[in-house]
Amino acid sequence: MKPAHNFSAGPGILPAEVLQQASEACINFDNLNLSLLEISHRSKNFEAVMDESRALVKELLGIGDGWQVLFLGGGASLQFAMVPYNLLRTEGYAAYVNTGVWANKAIKEAKTIGNTKVIASSEDKKYTYVPKGFEIPADADYVHITSNNTIYGTQMHAFPQSPVPIVCDMSSDIFSRPVDGNKFGLIYAGAQKNMGPAGATMIALREDLLGKTGRKMLSMLDYAVHIKGGSMYNTPPVFSIYVSMLTLRWLKKNGGLAWIGKRNAEKSETMYAEIDRNSLFTGTTAVEDRSQMNATFVMTKPELEPEFDKMWKEAGISGLRGHRDVGGYRASLYNALPVESVKVLTDVMQAFEKKFA
Ligand SMILES: *Cc1c(COP(=O)(O)O)cnc(C)c1O
Repeated sequence: MKPAHNFSAGPGILPAEVLQQASEACINFDNLNLSLLEISHRSKNFEAVMDESRALVKELLGIGDGWQVLFLGGGASLQFAMVPYNLLRTEGYAAYVNTGVWANKAIKEAKTIGNTKVIASSEDKKYTYVPKGFEIPADADYVHITSNNTIYGTQMHAFPQSPVPIVCDMSSDIFSRPVDGNKFGLIYAGAQKNMGPAGATMIALREDLLGKTGRKMLSMLDYAVHIKGGSMYNTPPVFSIYVSMLTLRWLKKNGGLAWIGKRNAEKSETMYAEIDRNSLFTGTTAVEDRSQMNATFVMTKPELEPEFDKMWKEAGISGLRGHRDVGGYRASLYNALPVESVKVLTDVMQAFEKKFA
């Protein structure tokens, strides 16, 4: 039996109607009597998918002329390398904000490519908060931030003012709330947390940032090459792009980022209210930096974990165990998760408290 309430941290839940449409397209796409998976990416039917996907990203982020949108393979992890490779001048340096595992991986790749400076970090408290009030140096080539720290359950609720372009890893909160894309120079996000299946990574970037590094570029790692090729320099991850397009259509049809922002706020408020109220659970992060996407919490009596695990599994809940680095539990509340699923989980937490507190 399929678990009814999917709290997986990634790949994450997708809207049921999107999964239905995606499965139909695997058999008969656009009434071609062919599968989406067996036609040329250069056919006009797939070109239309690519065009619509890119247009929806632009519309949702409110970005226009001077911006390009790409869907590439390699995951967000490849962007950890492509960003410095394309934006970090051989004589320059890049500023990084260290907010956890993913930020660290981005820093590691950038260090291999050029000079970096970590300008703020929450490592001192095991990444349980988001650094604030740090100064971004005006001579850096860019500053790199992570908007949502998937593993620790922290999120930037306000973005810093910056004299240099902001590069943001939005893998786990892309399109989860109203965000003005124009505040950034480059935004990237792996599809599989909040947008679609694994395989594609969305990159939105200001084209004027390119061509300044003084570096001889490998084609596959060069944003300019992919822009020139219309995101089809090589065969793109067609299925992931198609399902991402369906999810973005679903978002737009329901009211866009304002609608999903309200819904995600309601879910996370319900979740954190129960974590704070319940005597058997406690949150793991600074209250003001709590993520609307990944609510992390631990049990005050860890010896009861097997009892709790039994209860939520019986309620049809799946994917609730925390990341191995944090332990405890993590309720991922991505866009497609219904409000109803959160109520089911908080009901289980209440029943658990009644039984064991
Ligand atoms: C999951 C995740 C990544 C890694 O994504 P891959 O597509 O697996 O490379 C990077 N950054 C953040 C914030 C993530 O949540």
